Amino acid sequence: MITPSEFPNLFIVNHPLVLHKLSRMRERSCPTSEFRSLLKDISMLMTYEVTANLPMTTNKISTPIQEMNAPVLACKEPVIVPILRAGMGLVDGPLSVMPDSIVAHIGLRRDEETHLPHEYLVKMPPTIPQDRPFLIVDPMLATGNSSVHATDILVQRGVDPSRITLMVLVASPEGVKLYHDKYPQIPVYTAALDSHLNENAYIVPGLGDAGDRIYGT
Ligand code: URA
Repeated sequence: MITPSEFPNLFIVNHPLVLHKLSRMRERSCPTSEFRSLLKDISMLMTYEVTANLPMTTNKISTPIQEMNAPVLACKEPVIVPILRAGMGLVDGPLSVMPDSIVAHIGLRRDEETHLPHEYLVKMPPTIPQDRPFLIVDPMLATGNSSVHATDILVQRGVDPSRITLMVLVASPEGVKLYHDKYPQIPVYTAALDSHLNENAYIVPGLGDAGDRIYGT
């Protein structure tokens, strides 16, 4: 993993498999089915890094040979929070290795002129779990407005920022800066830090509209 000096809480997962799969996803010729499947693979591989600092404890267990104090997670599996709709593409990967996770949805529509997010759905557990970390997922950290908005929603409902992690596929420097200006303590994991945003707030070189590419719209 790489952490650029200008973004001390950004973690770029530069594993060869992740980079290889992301390069294929970026290609215009990558069809929807392959794009979706690669996104699932990458999000599963990134989960390995994202969860590397989960708290641990020990449980006394019995192997067929003898008793031992075995390392186990000291918390429940996370609440995964996809930002709809593209965030759904990053849910199956983490779920495949953390099947007891809860999935809570936040629906944000981007205004194409102002590039600001408009909230249309928030579906959280009735009581905010205190014994689970929260993992916000969205493929593109572009302006950063949606990620900040989604984080605000969790914090307003009583989730301490120390329990939140943001996982994206591609980030822009502008998005990381905006996010960490507001939430410097929240780690951001990405597979790539791209060059910049264009005048339509798309990431350059990026991969286009992630939602359209996942769903074929
Ligand atoms: N959303 C996308 O899907 N792609 C971008 O490049 C920026 C925002």
